[in-house]
Amino acid sequence: MAYDRDNIFARILRDEIPCDKVFEDDHVLAFHDINPQAPTHVLVIPKGEYVSMDDFTANASDVEVAALFRAVGAVARELGLAGSGYRILANHGPDSHQEVPHLHVHIFGGRPLGPMLIRG
Ligand code: AMP
Repeated sequence: MAYDRDNIFARILRDEIPCDKVFEDDHVLAFHDINPQAPTHVLVIPKGEYVSMDDFTANASDVEVAALFRAVGAVARELGLAGSGYRILANHGPDSHQEVPHLHVHIFGGRPLGPMLIRG
């Protein structure tokens, strides 16, 4: 799947759309989800043009991969979730119901999150 430069997260990265930022470095941006599914719901995205986790793990540099996962841990700690716990999730492709075609890692926390998967 080709990367769509008009997807909403690409537009956030270009500052065309605002976001509620929680973290940024050379490779990563993290911001609050606009429709939170938990008291804390943050999205961590690479700045590079990667459609999904599949694209990212196949094509991103080691530096980019490390930066994304370091940022996930750092953001969770910064938001006070490391002690109480949190869940990370990244959807890839149709079966996952991925809606935005730019890789994003969800961080959920702030309450007991229940079983891992909602049955569809
Ligand atoms: P997914 O289903 O994994 O692709 O998740 C997409 C997520 O992006 C959803 O949780 C949306 O609420 C979130 N989202 C969509 N637009 C925005 C936006 N402009 N700012 C923040 N989060 C957004």
